[in-house]
Order: sequence, then C-alpha cells, then structure tokens
Amino acid sequence: MTTPIRGLHHVTATVNEAQPDLDFYAGLLGLRLVKQTVNFDHTGVYHFYYGDEEGRPGSLMTTFPYGGEGVPQGRIGAGQISVTSFSVPPGALDFWRGRLADRKVPVEREGVRFGEGLLEFRDPSGLRIELREAPGDPRDPWVASGIPPAAAVRGLHSVTLTLHRAGPSLAFLTGLLGMEEGERDGDRIRVLAGDGRPGALLEMEVAPEAPAGVNGLGTVHHVALEVDDGEAQRAVRSTLVAEGVQVTQVKDRQYFTSIYFRGPGGILYEVATRGPGFTQDESVADLGTHLKLPGWEESNRPSIERKLTPVSLENVR
Ligand code: ZN
Repeated sequence: MTTPIRGLHHVTATVNEAQPDLDFYAGLLGLRLVKQTVNFDHTGVYHFYYGDEEGRPGSLMTTFPYGGEGVPQGRIGAGQISVTSFSVPPGALDFWRGRLADRKVPVEREGVRFGEGLLEFRDPSGLRIELREAPGDPRDPWVASGIPPAAAVRGLHSVTLTLHRAGPSLAFLTGLLGMEEGERDGDRIRVLAGDGRPGALLEMEVAPEAPAGVNGLGTVHHVALEVDDGEAQRAVRSTLVAEGVQVTQVKDRQYFTSIYFRGPGGILYEVATRGPGFTQDESVADLGTHLKLPGWEESNRPSIERKLTPVSLENVR
C-alpha cells in the first residue's frame, strides 16, 4: 500500500503562559512565528504557529497557552507524544549547547540515536524538546532568526510515541495509514511517514512500565500528519471508518482542513491538508505580526481581544 501520508504536518501542545512560549520557540529556538490566532474551539486562548518562513507543513510547532485558564499541569507518559524533535545540521549541537547555557536552559540528555547526535531540554511549560543532528535535510531555515544558518533549525525531525506495547500502534500506522516500519535502535522503532526524511519520522519508544500520560499544561495534545489535499484526506477517513475507527468530520482550520482520531495506544492523531496555508490571510512578509481570526469569529474580535493577555513580539522575528 502506498501511503497518502507525506510526513508530519505539525505538533500541537498545551502550554502555560503565552509570553515565555513566544520567547522560547521564536526567541531561543529561532522558529518563525507564522500565525497568531486563537483556539477555534476555545477562543479565549491564543493559538501560536511556529515554523519556517512560510510555515510549511513539517516545520510547524503549534501551542495553546492555557496558563491562567484553570488547566492543571499534565504528566508526560505512555499513550502520548512524549518528545518533539527538531532537525539541525550535523555539527550544530556545539552552538546549541552554548545558546542553551547562555539562556540558563539545562540540558537533560545528550547522546546518539539512529546515528544522530541529540540534545534534550525542556520548554518553559515542561515539554520535552530535542535537537537531532540529521544529515541531508535539504530544508531552508528561517534566516531572520539571527541564528547562524549552519546551526539553525530546519523543521520538525520526528516525534516520539511512548507506548506500553509496540504491536498495536505499529499495525495501525503501517496497516491503516500505510506507513513503513524502519530501523530499530534499542527500545525504539522508527516508522517512516511518506519518504521517512527528517520531518517524516515517528519513533516508537516501548516502555511497558511507564505511567500513563495525563493531558494538561506541558504535554503534547496531538500530532498532525500531512496529506496532499481534501481528496487524500477523505480517502484516509474512509479507510479508518471502514476499520471501525472513530474519526471526526472534516474541520475547517482556516489554513488547512483536519480530521482527528485516536490510535491504539491512546495517542491523538490529526490528518491535515497541505493547503491553503498561512499566506491566505497575510503576506509572507507579514506572517505572525497581527492577531488573525477566522471569518466566522471576526464579528467577535473586540471581546476576543479583551480576553487575551497582551504579548510582546520584541524577541520574535
Ligand atoms: Zn492540530
């Protein structure tokens, strides 16, 4: 079966306060803030999208800053995306060690996995973030970040799925979603989404004793996989429905359309279309500079803006 999945589209996390989130993902990691909008299902909360210059699928990290909304801290564990990894060029970790030390962000793990150097640390909400030295990643970094291009983040590298058992999720991803099983390294199994390049990888970490993850601040909410268009999305939906998987209707997310469903380990997946993309309501030059609302919320703008905590884009380029 050839997979309609082209790679990762985005990772979405529930985070704490908005300002430290902006300062970390755009300021420290050097991703571009490509869109400021609100959670379409809870408009009192921002939705930030970070990525490359145009916010291409596979470069995108997105956050819901729920700080102050009564959402408790979550717990990272089994049945979740436990680690979000970003791709940097081989040799770049020296630069990042220095940058993290300057900003007083402790490194929690260093090592080599699948032959790639890695550095793990936490974002301000407690999310586990990794940089992976991936050879042969042709994607262009966001050059205005002020980070040397030889070290800058290229986009997502992979996500780590922490699971009690590998079998059911492996069957789900390779069977229903048509992905390919890849190499193994210790307790990890790679699954190739699309061509399996950096940005098109999932890594299953088998941890039979891991406590179950609990959703909340500092946890990944879901991972989105990219498909070409609505037709490919409908085909994925039909396959899942035919196998008895509960799948949402197609939802309009303004910059793409989405369906959502849970995998066997409890992990929440989304399948999202490549387009129409982030330039449909802002020019490439202006991406991320203004609060954008979907058309159906525009008449509520004054009340939405009153509820949101003002943020400074001083450290955001
Ligand atoms: Zn999403």
